[in-house]
Amino acid sequence: MQVDIVTIFPEIFPPVFGASILKRAQENRLLKIKAHDLRDFTRNRHRKIDDRPYGGGPGMLMQAEPIFKAVEALQKNCPGGACQTILLSPQGEVLTSSLAKELAGLRHLILLCGHYEGVDERVRQGIVDRSVSIGDYVLTGGELPAMVLIDCMARFIPGVIGHADATTEESFVNGLLEYPQYTRPSAFRKMRVPKVLLCGDHQRIAQWRKRQALAKTKNNRPDLLARKQPK
Ligand code: SAM
Repeated sequence: MQVDIVTIFPEIFPPVFGASILKRAQENRLLKIKAHDLRDFTRNRHRKIDDRPYGGGPGMLMQAEPIFKAVEALQKNCPGGACQTILLSPQGEVLTSSLAKELAGLRHLILLCGHYEGVDERVRQGIVDRSVSIGDYVLTGGELPAMVLIDCMARFIPGVIGHADATTEESFVNGLLEYPQYTRPSAFRKMRVPKVLLCGDHQRIAQWRKRQALAKTKNNRPDLLARKQPK
């Protein structure tokens, strides 16, 4: 899968994607991530990409033209198959595991990172397939949201995570939070691992985990239970 990021801060991506699981995914050619400088698509001497909003108001807006030019250039290099252009925006649909899984099935993604007061609305109207938010709060730019989206989506690309089960037995995947987990030692500062996890009976362990997942979800995120489809 190829992911092209359009940003005014391309230098902040390589340190993040040059480590750990996503580094290995790129070395194994499961994922290709490239950040492009939006200013390379300007025509003015000062490489300016923003201007004041019509009608007044605080701050600056990113102009439509360089963004259109960047996306059109990147679409020409689409490796075939489905390509989607996504604007990171607090006004978009909220990122979920199921959206990340859907995006992981695409061959090519173009991510647009806004800054300042955001982007000229004609970007959304004319060149964006969907807008995605990472939560109901406002950040200074779309770079961190783009990183979150890529990391979350990459986990669903076959081969990126060593254990395939890791993405199916995970919080949110079946509408619940994950059950509590423990590792060695079995006793630590007077806190003991629940006996059932040491018994070796896989059926009993599975039942315990299911009960724990339900209790944790009820306590921490009752909204998930309200949304969960009855099986
Ligand atoms: N004026 C905009 C509004 O009220 O909707 C907010 C602009 S924000 C300061 C600048 C940029 O940060 C946005 O264009 C977007 O790319 C990014 N951004 C901020 N919060 C975000 C969020 N929760 N999810 C995704 N992107 C976000």
